Order: sequence, then structure tokens, then C-alpha cells
Amino acid sequence: MESRTDNAQQPATKSNPVATSTQATSTQATSTQATSTQAPGATIGMVGGGQLGRMFAVAAAAMGYRVVIFTDAENSPASHVAAQTIVGDLNDPDAIDRFAEQCDVITLEFENIPASTIARCRQFAPTYPSASVLATAQNRLIEKTTFREAGLPVTPFQRVHDVKSMIAAGDELGWPLIIKTARSGYDGKGQHRIDSSEAADQVDWASTDEWIAEKCIAFDKEVSVIVARTPDGRCETFPIFENTHRNHILDISVAPAELSDALSVEARRIAVAAAEAIDVIGLLCVEFFVSGDQVMINEVAPRPHNSGHLTIEGCETSQFEQHVRAVCNLPLGSTEQRTQFATMANLLGDLWTAEGEAPNWLQALADSGVSLHLYGKAEARPGRKMGHLTMTGGNRDELVKRVSEARTKLQGSSEPSR
Ligand code: ATP
Ligand code: MG
Repeated sequence: MESRTDNAQQPATKSNPVATSTQATSTQATSTQATSTQAPGATIGMVGGGQLGRMFAVAAAAMGYRVVIFTDAENSPASHVAAQTIVGDLNDPDAIDRFAEQCDVITLEFENIPASTIARCRQFAPTYPSASVLATAQNRLIEKTTFREAGLPVTPFQRVHDVKSMIAAGDELGWPLIIKTARSGYDGKGQHRIDSSEAADQVDWASTDEWIAEKCIAFDKEVSVIVARTPDGRCETFPIFENTHRNHILDISVAPAELSDALSVEARRIAVAAAEAIDVIGLLCVEFFVSGDQVMINEVAPRPHNSGHLTIEGCETSQFEQHVRAVCNLPLGSTEQRTQFATMANLLGDLWTAEGEAPNWLQALADSGVSLHLYGKAEARPGRKMGHLTMTGGNRDELVKRVSEARTKLQGSSEPSR
């Protein structure tokens, strides 16, 4: 399967005339190649056609870039807003070439992209983040080991592979444990909480060969920090997001997180150090557990993150615009909040009826402070991220209440108040 859709009649040629080259100057930058700056007018390739690619494409287009999407899915959320989409198998050399040959710089919206695809893309254009960043982020064991060796605090963990090694891990780290597949987990998929050695038979060890056992952290809260990093090593962090999950899926984020000044500084410092440790170019979201006066890394994602969606309305520069600026080696934008607080509530497919009938959008918009984002996904499924609501303002509790109420009203069947 391969097809190409054009949303604009622009020539699919590289726009190198607008590119200027500067040598890496920062001592933080470990990339040895010359870094090239892509000015507006250039073509940015985005591997992945989901909501992150969609919001990236909107931000890039607003700045005058042309975005080409590469995805294996027809009718993807990003394809609706991008200049062009190449639909093909991500492992297909012809499809990769057709995509990459027209790009001045290439980035991505999910970390589980084959390293060979990134290597092939790199023959045509700088590809950020690199294959080595993906190799780290694709495997929780490598990720946690890398950060631990860099002196950064991570949840205590051990490699396990069967009941015996798990019991040894539980005895050393302390019960309960969270057992996770080392690869391919998202939204809590592939995770088991094991309270004691008696519950060891809950894990289907044969289903994959790499597992990690983590100490189950009795955290006070979960927060995340998104850091942007340019090819020449400049970094900028966003305000800290405080996240609550429901069924292991992000439910509500609020910025800024309620944290002491000392912990806020520490979380931002660790996020920058993590980005430098693995040499990320683009964005890195670092998810933390906060426990007492300690923060520890849960996991990272080298791309825009769900907890950062509130930056679209909430910050002077959104995470998506910052992603564009970072991979194009532009000056990074201000991450100051536009208002004292911002909050986001996720909209999952559970809000649709079993027959697939969409929620009552007008009810949610009856609160004039609510911003609605929908990702254009054709099919709603339980747990599937379909969109989100955002609100900004000066009263944290009131914002969370209003955005939650707006979401609840989506399931109302009556006519909206006008
Ligand atoms: P996503 O990519 O959607 O963030 P994921 O499947 O990669 O999710 P994690 O972030 O590792 O998984 O875990 C999802 C949630 O499960 C965490 O946000 C946290 O609420 C809980 N959790 C995970 N690991 C632990 C742990 N070691 N101790 C306590 N809670 C945990
Ligand atoms: Mg997570």
C-alpha cells in the first residue's frame, strides 16, 4: 500500500536556498556535524500521522514551513492539515525515499520507529531525534540504565525474565513491584502491579523476552517537564505540568505544578541533564514521580507530549512551535505562561456512544473559556485519545472544576444553552 495525497499545489522540492550553515558552538552539543538552520519556507518531514504530528504541522504551517507527513495509515489526523502525505510502510525503502528526498529536516512524533528507517532518512536530511535516542527511548531498561549512569534519579529497577528473577527483584527493591514490558508500552499497556511473590503467576512471561521490574512508588504526585534542545545545544524548559491519570491514561494536566521552588528547579535541571545525556535534538518530555522532597524519573519521550497540550493556549510558545524551532535550529521561544494557570482535560473515545455517535460539542463550548481540540480520528474506541479541552486563567481550582464540568457536559443529550 502506498499513496500520496497533496493538500497544496506546492512543488515538492528541497528548499536549500533558505538554509544557512553554522558550526556547533556549545560545549553541550555532542553532535559533531555542522548544524544547519532551516528558515521558514523549508520543508519539514514528520514521521507519524497522529495527533502530535497534526498539531506540529499546524504550528509549522503557521510559521511558513511546508510539512510532509510519512505514515502507514490512510486518512490520518496529521494528513488533514499537512501540505502532503506519503502513505506507505515505514520499512519500505521506496516510500522512505519518496518522503525523505523532499525534506530539508526530518522529525517524528513517536519513538517506536525502526532504526533502519531513521538511518535511511538521514541520507537525505538531518533527522531529529537521532536513531540512538530512539534506541534508548524504545527500551525502558536501556533508558533507565543510561540515566542512572548519568547520575540522574530514576525509579529503582531491575531486569527480570521469570518468576524467580521477579521474586529476587521484589525481595531487593521491596514489594509491590510494577512489572513492565521493556519495549512498546504506552498508556499503561503491558504493565502489572504485583503485590507479593504469591501473585507471581499474573505475568505472561512468554509474551515477550525483555521485562523490567520497578519498585512501586507511593508518589505524592506526578509531574512532567518538556525541554526543547537545538542542534547547537541550546535548551529551554516549559513550566512544570502536574498530571493525574485515570486507568493509567493521562486525564488532567495543570500548569504550573504545585511544587516547592527547590523541587521545581531540580526537576527542570534534571530534564535538561537528561536531554543532554542522550543528546536529544527536538523535544524531550521527562515524566517524574514526586515523593516528599524527591523527584525521580519515571520515563521519557523524545517528542511532544500529551501533558504539554495546554501550552497551545497556556504559554507564549506552544510545545509544537518550540519543536519546530528546535529542529530548525531557530531561536527558541519564550515558555512563559500567558496566564497564571492553564489546564487540560483529555477526551477519550469513551465519550462516544457505542453506536459511534459523537459527544455534544456545543454543550462543552457553552463555557466561553473552553478551547476544544479534536484530532479528526475517524473511529472512536474506549481509551483512544480523540481530543482535549483547555482552559487558562487565574484560579487553579476553578479552572480544573470548569474544564472537568465542560467534559462531563459532553455527554449531555439536551440542546446547548446559547
Ligand atoms: P505513557 O507512555 O502513556 O506515559 P506508559 O505505558 O509508557 O505510559 P508509564 O508512564 O511507565 O507507562 O506508566 C503509566 C502510569 O502508571 C504512570 O504515569 C503511573 O501513574 C503508573 N506507574 C508506572 N510506573 C510506576 C511505578 N514504578 N510506581 C508507581 N506507579 C507507576
Ligand atoms: Mg508515562
